[in-house]
Amino acid sequence: MEDCIFCKIVNKDIPSELIFEDEQIIAFNDINPQAPIHILIIPKEHFASLNDIPDEKKELLSHILLRARQIAQNIGIEEKGYRIVLNTARDSGQEVFHIHFHLLGGRRMTWPPG
Ligand code: AMP
Ligand code: ZN
Repeated sequence: MEDCIFCKIVNKDIPSELIFEDEQIIAFNDINPQAPIHILIIPKEHFASLNDIPDEKKELLSHILLRARQIAQNIGIEEKGYRIVLNTARDSGQEVFHIHFHLLGGRRMTWPPG
């Protein structure tokens, strides 16, 4: 996807603070953090949102969740807790249309979200 900012991050055409990378996904710091820990985890393959992920890609979704947990463990926030957010389409406030999971932590959070 030529005009996708997260595809450009995957391809290293624009810089990011890389946290984790494997053959399927990358994780990098959010440029506008909403918590002391705010990491975005994305598949290297472009999908606009959860609405665009076919059933055959279910392993990719579980992979992202398990790597998110591993990142939380590596940072040392798994005991205190963390929040994983997946905004999908307009009403959620999704702004970047390359699916991304937010991993947030390092402070107490409130519920319900805004
Ligand atoms: P969402 O509202 O769920 O689409 O979230 C998009 C997120 O991407 C926001 O938290 C932005 O701060 C973040 N973001 C946008 N551009 C970049 C970038 N170049 N590097 C890192 N994070 C970014
Ligand atoms: Zn993309």
